[in-house]
Amino acid sequence: MSSAVDRTPCPACGAPLGGRAGCQRVFDQLSAAAWQDLTRGSVHNLVVDAYAMQHPEEYGKSAKSYFQHLTALGCGLEHHGEAQLYWSIAPTFEHTPPPPKPPLLVERGSLTIALVVGEAGSDYAARVRDWAAAVWLAYASQHALAHERLAIAHRHRSGARR
Ligand SMILES: [Zn+2]
Repeated sequence: MSSAVDRTPCPACGAPLGGRAGCQRVFDQLSAAAWQDLTRGSVHNLVVDAYAMQHPEEYGKSAKSYFQHLTALGCGLEHHGEAQLYWSIAPTFEHTPPPPKPPLLVERGSLTIALVVGEAGSDYAARVRDWAAAVWLAYASQHALAHERLAIAHRHRSGARR
């Protein structure tokens, strides 16, 4: 622990990790680690979608990417990230365009990636879930839009089944 640690909050999510660049560095490190660690890998979709919805300036530029991450976050939490449904979300945009993007939220959740930084202990997955749930809660006003998209994904998946 160094006293020189940069605690500047990220302007997008508020994590005290050294501004926007420091926050991104942590996300990139978690993403790299997820490839090598089953515990991390099992919840990494949640990490990606929670992070995206706390940084929609970059990860939700288009309505399509915005709603993809929002819907995926809902799927991750409400459907335990059921893989088949999760991967059915992106293809829906090929036939059903997204609605207009809502104005970006200012409050994006009381927890941030700072909660899951560091070593992946046995409670890593639980901490990721807590963080993701806080982000999802912040987006309560847009749950209906996510559920709508999830319903489309569900139909699409059922229809695609042989
Ligand atoms: Zn951030």
